[in-house]
Amino acid sequence: MNKSQVIEILNENSLLPESKFGQNFLCNEEITRDILDISGITIEDKVIEIGPGIGALTVPLCESGIDLTCVEIDKRIAQYLVESGISATVICSDYLKLSDYNGEQFTKAISNIPYYVMTPILKKLICDLPNCTQMTFMIEEDALDRILAKPKTKQYGPLAVIMNLYGTVCKEFSVPGNNFYPIPKTMSCVISVKKNNNDYILNEDMMDFIEKCFQMRRKKLLNNLSYYSKEAIVSAINSIGFSENVRAEELTPIDFIHLYNAIISYTKN
Ligand code: SAM
Repeated sequence: MNKSQVIEILNENSLLPESKFGQNFLCNEEITRDILDISGITIEDKVIEIGPGIGALTVPLCESGIDLTCVEIDKRIAQYLVESGISATVICSDYLKLSDYNGEQFTKAISNIPYYVMTPILKKLICDLPNCTQMTFMIEEDALDRILAKPKTKQYGPLAVIMNLYGTVCKEFSVPGNNFYPIPKTMSCVISVKKNNNDYILNEDMMDFIEKCFQMRRKKLLNNLSYYSKEAIVSAINSIGFSENVRAEELTPIDFIHLYNAIISYTKN
């Protein structure tokens, strides 16, 4: 879909782009092709797309015969997609509120992510899709530094820990704003996330725990986790080889798994 086609569809259907839903529609067919090429999606896959919009990725996926489910928050757009006759299953919902669906069926995920809800969408996809082997996202380029941040750096936080524990994140290419309509204020980029073969399950409880570890960045881990008994936390922190003065930013991603397991087993005993 090129820019004039995007504008035509929007005008014909009286659809004004809604900034509150992060609606910047991709309008460069070459970039669409590049995204689909690196997505690793094949005819064998069951794919979920978050935020299909007017179909920049959705339409070519359907044309390739891919088994696709898409989740769109905007009723007007969901209705347009259904009426356009695409073969995808269209769910009209805020993805963050979607609970009655079977995430286990999906083997790939794709999204030109609405930037205002990037982190919660990434976390929900990771929790809900245990059989997904690769996810492909268009994100705000600034967010990439937070995703790839290393311990003991300013940008290192829950998002970097969670993404690192989940899989291997690779920046594929940058996408300047003029490839969208309307043009967003920031530069975008496409990333692929290939799931690691982990011996742990990254569930919601674990993600909440990681968030809490970083709640007050300047505070010691001990204080951020003060809802556990001091004895339990000190024992858990020591058992993974750190002193009780440690801050969350000093732990590597895998340390958080060890710490979580140590606290759980301490509180069980
Ligand atoms: N995929 C299209 C494209 O590449 O042109 C649209 C991308 S646009 C950046 C983001 C889309 O996500 C919009 O269609 C928006 O309405 C939808 N969206 C925003 N928040 C959402 C949410 N919480 N759940 C589902 N869809 C959402």
